[in-house]
Amino acid sequence: MDYEIVIVGAGPSGIFTAMTLAELGIKGIILIEQGKDLDHRTRSDPEDMLCGWGGAGAYSDGKLTLSTEVGGILKEFIEERPLYQLLEETDKIYAAHGAPDRIFGEPSHQLEEFAIRARLAGLELIPTRIRHIGTENCRAVLSGFRQALKERVDIRTGLKVQGLLAEDGRIMGVNLADGQIIHSRFVVVAPGRSGAAWMKHQAESLRLKTTASPVDIGVRVELPAVVFNGITDMSYESKLIHYSRTFDEKVRTFCMNPYGEVVAEENAGIITVNGHSYATKKSDNTNFAILVSSAFTEPFDDPIAYGHYIARLANLLGGGIIVQRLGDLLAGRRSTRERISRCLTRPTYTNATPGDLSFVFPYRHLVSIIEMLEALEKLAPGVYSRNTLLYGVEVKFYSNRIEISPEMETKIKNLFTIGDGAGVSRGLLQASASGILAARAIARRIEDGGV
Ligand SMILES: Cc1cc2nc3c(=O)[nH]c(=O)nc-3n(C[C@H](O)[C@H](O)[C@H](O)COP(=O)(O)OP(=O)(O)OC[C@H]3O[C@@H](n4cnc5c(N)ncnc54)[C@H](O)[C@@H]3O)c2cc1C
Repeated sequence: MDYEIVIVGAGPSGIFTAMTLAELGIKGIILIEQGKDLDHRTRSDPEDMLCGWGGAGAYSDGKLTLSTEVGGILKEFIEERPLYQLLEETDKIYAAHGAPDRIFGEPSHQLEEFAIRARLAGLELIPTRIRHIGTENCRAVLSGFRQALKERVDIRTGLKVQGLLAEDGRIMGVNLADGQIIHSRFVVVAPGRSGAAWMKHQAESLRLKTTASPVDIGVRVELPAVVFNGITDMSYESKLIHYSRTFDEKVRTFCMNPYGEVVAEENAGIITVNGHSYATKKSDNTNFAILVSSAFTEPFDDPIAYGHYIARLANLLGGGIIVQRLGDLLAGRRSTRERISRCLTRPTYTNATPGDLSFVFPYRHLVSIIEMLEALEKLAPGVYSRNTLLYGVEVKFYSNRIEISPEMETKIKNLFTIGDGAGVSRGLLQASASGILAARAIARRIEDGGV
């Protein structure tokens, strides 16, 4: 046996697996990452954005959402209370490695009042406690993890795992893209969203059962920070859910970035919009996504292809991201450079093409987005302004879900799969927590002397 445990992927889930195993005194761990080491990653290289030490977490906004309801599906495996405790434990590890002390959204009378006002506006507020690392601090925290592991785990970057080796229903190791084979007793696969297609292929060849996850499609909204600061100063982000009047479709706010910036993201040749914020550097605007979750009509069962199709359409029409003033959308006309230059909300992302989002979104999505904005206006006057900017499209793809046990083990013995790539998580905290679960299960087996 070359190693006791191979971990594939050095995103938050893989890193937390390694850190937990090392803390428990387990030896013989190799962590393999296809991307670059942290110091060699640059924001300007699209390949570095999602891959390398820290995975997608390296350039994320670093919001650690202490909620069992968002950021993953761990609540399907663990009871509410122990799960919350696990998330708190995970969060403390981030704090111990340099994440800022402040937690937003602590229960308060003010927050309760806000939840009631939201309800009156037809919106459900999901209360969440959030620790905000901030994009500029993520690197330091990830570097802290790297330091903590460097003597205890064999870390290899720039090395891609090609395939998973299994025999008689048991994992035997992995083979690498450069032809090497590594034998091991346990394999933990943590490939993230960027490795989801590879993971799907591995699952197929190992005959692991998978189910398609939904796709969420929508826009990124940008408006003056003052419109939302009553809530964002108190709870950083407000997660609000609305069921649209016309289609009774679930629409939600997502990834709110107070005083933040809108950014472009490229994945598999498709450009989509996203947002982030710094812990210290502040813009005048707040941005957040409005996402529509559609339940498709049978027999259609390929939500990822649908999401790609809509994103490609926006890229085809706008050469990338399209921006439109809400006033123009409602008046049935495109935004032009001249109209955007007169817009009272100054765009933080200036490379978007002024255009018409009604050429991109299906009717039901557009109507649901507009109805959500109307509902938000009742809660935060100013949202439904002509000068609110809408960037399209924002698409959230989730990986296919692989059938796993509450210990994160697949049907192949000693093969564990965790994080976003396994469809278990959609955020830093649940991804990291899933790594802890897999590590603890492995450590128990090793201590028991079992296989
Ligand atoms: C712009 C942006 C902002 C975000 N902001 C937030 C936020 O504020 N809060 C939040 O909770 N979440 C946020 N997220 C999501 C968060 O980053 C992810 O949920 C989290 O990183 C998932 O962790 P992971 O370990 O599962 O996967 P990843 O972080 O994606 O890491 C997977 C790693 O595995 C490697 N890999 C894949 N396949 C192989 C292979 N075959 N061989 C070797 N290596 C492989 C990849 O290169 C990658 O480095 C954001 C994401 C993005 C893109």
